[in-house]
Amino acid sequence: MAAQAPRTLLTEDQFARAVEAAESVVLPSVMGADAIGSVVTAALFEVGFISPPPPADPDTCTALVPDDRGFWVQCLEDPGHDDRHETGEWSWTDDHDGAVPASTG
Ligand SMILES: [Zn+2]
Repeated sequence: MAAQAPRTLLTEDQFARAVEAAESVVLPSVMGADAIGSVVTAALFEVGFISPPPPADPDTCTALVPDDRGFWVQCLEDPGHDDRHETGEWSWTDDHDGAVPASTG
């Protein structure tokens, strides 16, 4: 099987437009805005797009990576650690497709 092309990170505007399009056919009052956002995230991830990363919690390493359905997970190691990023369930390096390295600020 050919190597998968890197996924494209969507801008906040692109993702908002995708959610608006979904909300135009499934009213948030019927499904819930969060559920619609999750459906859009998973559907777009499947075809090569990553939803914008959330603000990272500054209490741990701020590295982020999309999981296997496109939902962001944050590293739970101490800030500034020098091994692979870890959540217990997920382990990755900064060169993983879609990964956002820890901020150094
Ligand atoms: Zn980390």
